[in-house]
Amino acid sequence: MGLISVIGSLNMDLVVRATKMPRAGETLAGSDFHLIPGGKGANQAVAAARAGATTAMVGCLGADAFAPVLLESLTAAGVDTRCVARLAGISTGTATILLEESGENRIIIVAGANGQVSEERVAAQWEHIAQSDLILLQHEIPLPTVHTVIARAHSAGIPVMLNPAPIYPIPAQILAQVDTLILNEIEASFLTDSPVSDPHSAGNAAAKLAGLGVQTAIITLGSQGALLFSAAGGEIYQPAFQVTAVDTTAAGDTFVGGYAASLLAGASPAEALRYASSAAALAVTRLGAQTSIPTRVEVEAFLAAHPSN
Ligand code: ADP
Repeated sequence: MGLISVIGSLNMDLVVRATKMPRAGETLAGSDFHLIPGGKGANQAVAAARAGATTAMVGCLGADAFAPVLLESLTAAGVDTRCVARLAGISTGTATILLEESGENRIIIVAGANGQVSEERVAAQWEHIAQSDLILLQHEIPLPTVHTVIARAHSAGIPVMLNPAPIYPIPAQILAQVDTLILNEIEASFLTDSPVSDPHSAGNAAAKLAGLGVQTAIITLGSQGALLFSAAGGEIYQPAFQVTAVDTTAAGDTFVGGYAASLLAGASPAEALRYASSAAALAVTRLGAQTSIPTRVEVEAFLAAHPSN
């Protein structure tokens, strides 16, 4: 089985639930509070590992009480954490998440140690990273690091999957070195400079991204499902599985990690898309980031119960 290396962020999520959001100057009583391991990088690593992939995480934590909790969450999921550094004098990344009863969320992220995942630090770990069969990246670490890793992986012949969240412009020569780009409708709209709101407009945007040199572009559309376009195989649409959303945090991360693991295990893009969608659907029925990500056994039981989706 191949190795997936995730080079990215680790955050502690501070989750506050309330019936509604406070307006400026207003104080409200919330219903509950949870500390939940998160960060797009770590979430995707956990999603890939729970989907059965051999997974390693490369990233940075601070020297506070959150660091050991985040390490333990990765280790418990089976993720190799030898390349996760603990840095003195800086806080671990945090995401403060305000969650409304409707399932909508509002998030403030403080990068902390994630901002220290520099090109030099990653270069120092390259011997480990070079063993990978797939490298998975997001935009929650410094962008020069992301771009350098993509270029270096490309010249070493290691496939790269990029989830460009949060979205920033991507230089054309870097985009052309990305094998699989997985992004939501807002990110796709930004990169293609065209509105993306449904499977039809997502198809056009994904084809546009493939025209820029990406081999496979996948656009996720929340409860409207996901659309894949590759120059080699054309368009594949995967509808979302019908579930009651409790918390959509990490839906995208569960999707990305699940897709990467399935593909590396030999699934076709259509099969990997179906796995990713069902894993993400299960994740939205549960609270939190890493706490919500299902195992392969859970996903397979869910798929068996939904044969026609
Ligand atoms: P992000 O969280 O990155 O914005 P999306 O909201 O597009 O990503 O969700 C990613 C995937 O998760 C979707 O393509 C879909 O498969 C699944 N998903 C998200 N929301 C729901 C939902 N309400 N019901 C079922 N599946 C969902």
